[in-house]
This record gives sequence, C-alpha cells and structure tokens, in this order.
Amino acid sequence: MLQTGPAKRAYVETYGCQMNLSDGELMEGLLAARGYEIVRNPEDADVVLVNTCAIREHAETRVLGRVSQLNGLKRENPGLVIGVTGCMAQRLGTTLLEQAPYVDLVMGPDGYRSLPDALERIASRRASRAGTQLAVLELDATENYQGLEQRRAEGPVAWVPVQRGCDHRCTFCIVPYVRGPEKNRDAADVIAEVEGLVAGGVSEVTLLGQTVNSYRSGDTTFPMLLRRIARMPGIRRVRFTSPHPSDVTPELVEVMAEEPAVCEHLHLPAQSGSDRTLKRMLRRYTVAELLQKVALVREAVPDVAISTDIIVAFPGETDAEFRETLDLMRTVRFDEAYTYKYSMRDGTPAARLPAEEFLGADEAQARLAELIAVSRGIAAEINAGEVGRVEEVLIERPGRKEGQLLAHTRRNKVVSFEGDAGRVGEYTRVELCSTSGATFHGVEVTA
Ligand code: SF4
Repeated sequence: MLQTGPAKRAYVETYGCQMNLSDGELMEGLLAARGYEIVRNPEDADVVLVNTCAIREHAETRVLGRVSQLNGLKRENPGLVIGVTGCMAQRLGTTLLEQAPYVDLVMGPDGYRSLPDALERIASRRASRAGTQLAVLELDATENYQGLEQRRAEGPVAWVPVQRGCDHRCTFCIVPYVRGPEKNRDAADVIAEVEGLVAGGVSEVTLLGQTVNSYRSGDTTFPMLLRRIARMPGIRRVRFTSPHPSDVTPELVEVMAEEPAVCEHLHLPAQSGSDRTLKRMLRRYTVAELLQKVALVREAVPDVAISTDIIVAFPGETDAEFRETLDLMRTVRFDEAYTYKYSMRDGTPAARLPAEEFLGADEAQARLAELIAVSRGIAAEINAGEVGRVEEVLIERPGRKEGQLLAHTRRNKVVSFEGDAGRVGEYTRVELCSTSGATFHGVEVTA
C-alpha cells in the first residue's frame, strides 16, 4: 500500500562511534519534534533509518547485511521507508541507492536538519508514483546543528557534541571526507544545553568531538569550555573524547588537575609506537612527544587512567615497527586499548600506497592478536592492583542479572554490584572486590 502522508513512527538503528550515537539522538530529536513517535523495533516503524559508520570495511559489510535484512520487512510492509544515514551513506552515496534499490534515502552527516522534509518529499513522491529514492549528500562547512534538540535516553549521563568534522588528514582515516572540516558550536549554546540536561537530572556529561580538544569558538578554547562546564551547578562529573595528542596542552592538563568535576581519565589515541609509522599516518607527533604528554598528565593528575586506540598493520609497517608499538604499550601501560587492524578506505591517502606495502590478512591478524594479548595482560595487571580500593561510582543502569547495578568509577572503570534498580542516577562508594581483568565486581561501602 502506498502512503499518502508522512510516516509517523520512526526507528533509528545506529552503528559506530559515540559521535554517531549522538547523531542518532539528534535524528530522533528532529523526528520527534516533527510529530514522529520513536519506536524501539523496526517491525513497529513506518520509517527505519540505519545510521552507519565507514571507518572500517567490516562495519560497512555488517550494515549492508542489515539493510538487506530490513528489505524483508519492506516486502511485508511496502509502505516502509528505509533510509541509510551517516558516514557510509556519505561515502557510498548514490552507488548505495543503485546497489540496494529498496533503500529510499541516503543522507550524509551534514543533512540531518532536512531529514523530516526529505521524508515528506519521499511520501509525496510516492503519492504521485514518482521514483522515491532521494540522496542528500552535500557537505556543509557551517552545519554544527546548533539550536537543535537531541532526544536522549533517560539517565544521569549525557553526551554533548561540541564539535563536528575534522581538520586533520590522518592518512588512514575517512572521517574528514565524510564529515567535512571541523565545525565548533558556540560555547553559549553548549552551556545552555548542559543547563537543560542538569535540569532534567543529568549530572555527568561527556563533551564530544572528533578532535575535541582543538575546539575553539570565538575566544573560548577547549580548556576554557571544560572549566566552565566543570563549574556549572549540578555537574558532578565531566569527561571528553576524543582528544588529539597534539592538543593535550599544559592549559588542558591544568584544568584536568584543578577542576574537581573533571574525571581522572584521558583517552589518548596513540595509533602506533613507531615514529616512521606515525609520520606515514600523518599523526603530527612523535613517540617521544606522546610520552611527554603522558608524563605531563600523570604528573598533574597522579591517579589518572589512560586509554588509547592502536592500529596495527598500517601499510608498510615492518615487524620491528610493530614491536615498537608493543614497547609503547609496555612503557605507558594503558588502562585500556581499543585495537584495530588497518582497514583500507577508498579515497584516503593510505589507500594509494603501493600494493606491495599492504600486509597479508594472516600477518595482520597475528599482529592484532599479539597486541590484544599484550594490552589485555597489562590492563588485567593494572586492574588486579586496584582490587581493594574504594571508589566513587555513578549508578548508570541495572545490570543483566536481577538485582545487579552497573556503574562507572571516575577513572572510567566499569563496576557491577548488588543494588536496587530504583537507584540509577545515585552516586555511592564501592569497594572493588574482584576483577575479570577488564571490569570489576564490587560491594557498596555504606559506612
Ligand atoms: S584526527 Fe585523524 S583519526 Fe581522528 S578523525 Fe581526524 S583524521 Fe580521523
């Protein structure tokens, strides 16, 4: 059955990074403001949006499988509108519409403001039996979604995007090509949003940006914004992600050290422990400079937990260079590492490196396995050393098991402990009693 008016129940399914999850909330907010009911199952929806990631080939393959699965729903309900949004939509554009004729809309990350209008256009095209496929793919160097409301899940924590896009050109990364240049929100707009969140019961915010610490709006630098938010009444915890190591400045570290609300956790994406590889990745720092940043932060915030991202098997990475990355892991002893095999992305500079430099799948997998073993071993040792500590936690949600609560420490460690689900949003103190290596089980300390 063809629909003659705008569909009214929407389902948004998001893949990828926190920025994408935040975009999913933005889309839900835009649709809710236009009268859509946001539903939790695609079977209940008139519009299904798959909000995608392009950072790795594997992520795209998974999404393509998911979209074709959704076509099964469309066969049962021909009125269903299927949209693909986000970085993969931007990257593949109209090719995706050709490959998947059942997809009605592809929309890149700068197009969301026009999402409700685009859905109306699709509905009216359907009514007039015109072709319904629509592509919204223009990059907009000014779009930072200022003034729009996200629709957030209820709870004590919220992610607040302060920046979109990226001015770096790391040679492995597709982000600057699908999300455009860096665009920062006005500080006043960010502050007003956080005030609204506090009024709604949020006490922990994470400021979000592709290179969040390069944020600048007018005279307001990132350290200044961080300090202002940390001092807002009702804010008890502030985090930020992902910073670029080059912009981890003494000013930023000073704010981390001085402001009690800024959590003792830093995500510092190293990517490699080899100077030659870092140079070929165009990361704009050396290993020595990275180590200086680590030392700076650890000196000012002695109990800080540091996590990282690492890519192995970048084209041309020698075994010796890979071993330098393992050395970096052992030197810094990151609390957590997100580890990846290099994934070739068309359009990026690294994709144009000579074919003979690309490592075979087995070799890349072996490097990744070795890196994971080293990083997990270090994390497990660090966490075992923390058993017995008493930490403040914020209860974020009920655990999977009945009567279990899940919480984060200020240092971003996950703790489960017994408690009543009605206590979500409370702060309490928990003794870390045991660790699985990655997470802790604790017992609440009431005295
Ligand atoms: S800093 Fe580099 S890795 Fe991060 S989004 Fe920008 S280009 Fe990609």
